[in-house]
Amino acid sequence: MRFTKLRLTGFKSFVDPTDLVISDGLTGVVGPNGCGKSNLLEALRWVMGETRAKAMRGGGMEDVIFAGAATRPARNYAEVSLTIDNGDRLAPAGFNDSDQLDIVRRITRDVGSAYKVNAKDTRARDVQMLFADAATGAHSPALVRQGQISELINAKPKNRRKVLEDAAGIGGLYQRRHEAELKLKNTEANLLRVDDVIEQLA
Ligand code: ATP
Repeated sequence: MRFTKLRLTGFKSFVDPTDLVISDGLTGVVGPNGCGKSNLLEALRWVMGETRAKAMRGGGMEDVIFAGAATRPARNYAEVSLTIDNGDRLAPAGFNDSDQLDIVRRITRDVGSAYKVNAKDTRARDVQMLFADAATGAHSPALVRQGQISELINAKPKNRRKVLEDAAGIGGLYQRRHEAELKLKNTEANLLRVDDVIEQLA
């Protein structure tokens, strides 16, 4: 699995559709202060399912939508699409039936976010799980923000362990365990209710 293209439309400073082609090898992005380099990294994190507006340097998630400029009105939606080469067929189960994956996230004002994978509506959780199982995602330690290295050096051992676990690709397992525990709790609560009903009928 390899990222090959990122397309931004109405996302932060990228008001017009903009393609970032990610070729083999190292890709460097250079430009003057404020030209949008960090916005590109945030777009990548966002399309992989980021839910924390703060991680997008915003107060609310709709802050990622182009807010307007002196000569351009604000947009009503933002969209980021990520193209993945799956020629090696290493995508996680459920997403592994084509050589290319197109993941699209769109946020519309007052409506919220919607995701598509290869043009099919997909739940946020499934997109997040796709990337977690592939040992990457919005919280991947491979995406390094400004100031993150010093944060890591000063981090508590528990937080540092989390970084290693994410790098090892077991983040998805923790998420599944959490969901299984929630289901178990619901089932236990339902069983108690059934016991109450049986007692009343007896
Ligand atoms: P530096 O080198 O200083 O870190 P950078 O190249 O990483 O800068 P970014 O921080 O990615 O730049 O981009 C900041 C620019 O994005 C600012 O000009 C800001 O006004 C613009 N911007 C951020 N959010 C929006 C938005 N919702 N609508 C329009 N423009 C936005």
